[in-house]
Amino acid sequence: MTAAAESTALLDGRFARELAELAVPWQAEEAPNPELLVLNTRLAQDLGLDPGYLRSPEGVRMLAGNHVPAGATPVAQAYAGHQFGSYSPLLGDGRALLLGELTDSNGRLVDLHLKGSGRTPFARAGDGRAVVGPMLREYLVSEAMHALRIPTTRSLAVVATGRQVRRDGMLPGAVLARVASSHLRVGSFQYARATENFDLLKRLADHAISRHYPHAADADNPYLALYASVVSAQAELVARWMLIGFVHGVMNTDNMTISGETIDYGPCAFLDSFNPAAVYSSIDVSGRYAYANQPVLAEWNLARLAEAMLPLIDGDQEKAVAPAVEVLGGFRRQYSEAWSKGMKAKLGLAPAGGEEAEDAASALVDDVIALLKDGPVDYTLFFRNLGKAARGNPRPVRGMVLDLAAFDGWVQRWQAMNPDAELMDSVNPAYIPRNHLVEEALTAATGGDIAPLQRLLEAVTDPFTERSGLERYAEGAPEDFGNYMTFCGT
Ligand code: AMP
Ligand code: MG
Repeated sequence: MTAAAESTALLDGRFARELAELAVPWQAEEAPNPELLVLNTRLAQDLGLDPGYLRSPEGVRMLAGNHVPAGATPVAQAYAGHQFGSYSPLLGDGRALLLGELTDSNGRLVDLHLKGSGRTPFARAGDGRAVVGPMLREYLVSEAMHALRIPTTRSLAVVATGRQVRRDGMLPGAVLARVASSHLRVGSFQYARATENFDLLKRLADHAISRHYPHAADADNPYLALYASVVSAQAELVARWMLIGFVHGVMNTDNMTISGETIDYGPCAFLDSFNPAAVYSSIDVSGRYAYANQPVLAEWNLARLAEAMLPLIDGDQEKAVAPAVEVLGGFRRQYSEAWSKGMKAKLGLAPAGGEEAEDAASALVDDVIALLKDGPVDYTLFFRNLGKAARGNPRPVRGMVLDLAAFDGWVQRWQAMNPDAELMDSVNPAYIPRNHLVEEALTAATGGDIAPLQRLLEAVTDPFTERSGLERYAEGAPEDFGNYMTFCGT
């Protein structure tokens, strides 16, 4: 057997088999002239896929959806979802396909999925296509998030289709190949619940338990345990977004996973200067998904998940409400604990043990947030430079703040707690996908020059180790960059 056949024969169709009601067998639109723009060699190897094969003409056609590996059953997945608060009973993969599942080198089952592979029965008015800029943006940001140790879908490759796609003008088309521990969404449960097919809802929950939270199967109430696991995973995830300064931009229930991985990078962005009200998405006119709203909106989405799961939690739905509400009530505590622990680590303050030290650390956290709000202060650079202050050089960080008296007083209290500079550098990145750099790289790539994107990828996929030659990737946005807006990513 060739390496290629060996690797592709591993694609299973478990989702399509176990949840046929949520899976429409479908095939990708033919890409007239597929060209590999970027391949994640490391990830390919982790998946047992041969990078040489993926670069070959047949491999590239596979990544565009046009060569279907033997035994694979590509499907479009059905799901519903609340979009900006209003319920759509049928969304589904309008321009995406699940090729099937692979087993990675750790024995984990993961989805191999394509985005931009043509119209499906869920496409509604959409053209089923995606364009180079937004697909490379998802590739770049998801791989940066992974390197920042934030649970996320991964990106395997972006293939340009060779077709021009109508957007605001004509743009080069592309397909993203992504990998996720699954594509089960809150919206998948909403869809299954709305069918009133209890058996389907139960099979969906059992599938989710088996793939993500196998321990839930042993609980007294496995479905309540599944719900609790999702609540915990999302509390942890959103805390990490907040700590790193990530704004997802479109936290609709169809864009929230059951696994707790970040999914569907559209109009997302990282904070430049710290601003709780930061919104980057051009379609988020009300600021629903602003930076500081993300924990509350995650909780709102989880309430929608509870509603979908009530019949599983108790045969008598009235009786299911109280335990579900109790579990959801734990979200705020879990979120706050994760955020607070993470903030203390950003300040170099390891769990101290004593209550008094913990209180002092918490006060330092509150006060540093107040200082940042006093801004404008570049969020990422502030913490990275604070690490330099912990090493005895307070100049860079001191040069960033307005209220020097307040800052100096804060630093004195902070220094007294012996901040650990190494801990700080291990959690405060030097390199993130800064908006001005992302725009620069995507504009070049759309015009045919992929080199700036490759360099940016090199920086952000190793974010905690400062390297000489990469200085411009660590700097804040230029003053003339202005207010950043991202467009829906379609
Ligand atoms: P998103 O906000 O990108 O997560 O997408 C929301 C819904 O719109 C999903 O059902 C997508 O499949 C669908 N969609 C987005 N863009 C397109 C497109 N160009 N063609 C067809 N469906 C699309
Ligand atoms: Mg989506």
